[in-house]
Amino acid sequence: MIYFDHNATTPLDGRVLEAMSPFLTSFYCNPSSLYRHGRLARSAVDTAREQVAALLDTTAASIIFTSGGTEANNLALASIPVGGKLAVAATEHPSISEPAKRLGRQGHGLAVIAVDADGLLTEDALTKLDAFQPQFISVMLANNETGVIQDVARYAGAWRDKGIIVHTDAVQAAGKVPVSFKQLNVHLLSLSSHKIYGPKGCGALVFDKSVPINPLIVGGGQEQDLRSGTENVAAIVGFGKAAELAKAGLAESGQRLLALRNLLEARLAEIPGLTIFAQSALRLPNTVQFGLPHVDGEMLLMKLDKKNIAVSSGSACASGGSEPSPVLTAMGVGPALAKSALRLSLGQSSTEAEISQFITVLKGLVCQA
Ligand code: PLP
Repeated sequence: MIYFDHNATTPLDGRVLEAMSPFLTSFYCNPSSLYRHGRLARSAVDTAREQVAALLDTTAASIIFTSGGTEANNLALASIPVGGKLAVAATEHPSISEPAKRLGRQGHGLAVIAVDADGLLTEDALTKLDAFQPQFISVMLANNETGVIQDVARYAGAWRDKGIIVHTDAVQAAGKVPVSFKQLNVHLLSLSSHKIYGPKGCGALVFDKSVPINPLIVGGGQEQDLRSGTENVAAIVGFGKAAELAKAGLAESGQRLLALRNLLEARLAEIPGLTIFAQSALRLPNTVQFGLPHVDGEMLLMKLDKKNIAVSSGSACASGGSEPSPVLTAMGVGPALAKSALRLSLGQSSTEAEISQFITVLKGLVCQA
């Protein structure tokens, strides 16, 4: 299979599996147990916490392990003060936009921050935001569909100074571009293990101690009493290893992926009428989203699947839905072009040969259409 869907998920790195394996077999003890094997599990969780913290330029004490990016985003939103108003960018992942809508229905004031054709916050929206006076703002660092990188650091300081709690969803950015919790100047940051060649069902919320977190899951008091439940030790160990590897390989993989993406975009430009969304914006080095007039993106995805090529028609979670991508709609892309969209996200296994093969197949399918 040609796998061009690394923003949906990544395969488990062999070295990650190797690190996890003893904790699925021999070292199965509960990290809260006081005997030696329990302490050993605790120490492995602590090491993973250091590794994840190092990837994000933060302290181990600021990491809360969760069941993934979705839980981290929901937990971040749970820190909204009682009755507080919140604002989220129009291009957020459903794990932010859906709980935000629910908070809106529960009586919290909710504003959606508009974006321009590149998916970047508009000056007009920022002015309106000032007037709205939210207590909480969430703006994602890199978009899962377009790969567009938002200049979160540019806004976060000013928002912070106004006493606003600032959160960023860095699930797609982490491991692909440098991410510094300190430099971003946010209070809360989410990430997910399975986007960085770690296991699924594991993630983290990075938090600033000044923010009172309201735990979603209460019980035994694990994770500083902010996320109870016996730790998924093997997954956390895998996440830590994946973070360590991502940090070590960041510069090299960024350059390699960018070169591949440039090649892919140059080859896509050979197809008449094809539009690459937000092409001139700063984007993740691995992501390209494009549209083709008079083409149904889902149908094209299925035809590519028959040729053993895996791509996405938008965010993986939205696949199967008949609505155009809310991200593209927010960027002002019309419904017909938005419904034709395909997202390609490259990764460690991607090669020039795969890109050539993909272009040949795509040209054949588009000409048939
Ligand atoms: N945030 C973004 C930007 C994502 O792309 C995803 C997954 O697609 C998530 C959050 C959810 O992460 P998880 O799959 O770990 O729940």
